[in-house]
Amino acid sequence: MNKTLRQRFWLKVDKSGDCWLWTGARDDKGYGKFRISSNPDHFTQAHRFAYSLKSPLSPTETLDHLCGEESCVRRGHLEKVSRRVNTLREWKERRNEKRNSI
Ligand SMILES: [Zn+2]
Repeated sequence: MNKTLRQRFWLKVDKSGDCWLWTGARDDKGYGKFRISSNPDHFTQAHRFAYSLKSPLSPTETLDHLCGEESCVRRGHLEKVSRRVNTLREWKERRNEKRNSI
């Protein structure tokens, strides 16, 4: 892995709290966006990048934020789940939000 890329990544992370928050650009879902090459359109999600520094991550695997903070890139707050499980969880969450707002 390119060392300067890794250094550039951590410069944009705020580790002052329990969650390590991405301070750079975000995508429309609130996830951190990290540019991984000189191509300005070549972005990856910041939390995926952080996770893949330590463990392999295939494109079909998704990461669930156990802390619920989309911009968090702390590895201990991320759980690798299949896309199916993640969708189910999001659906459950949305249902709970609905119930709480009544
Ligand atoms: Zn977190």
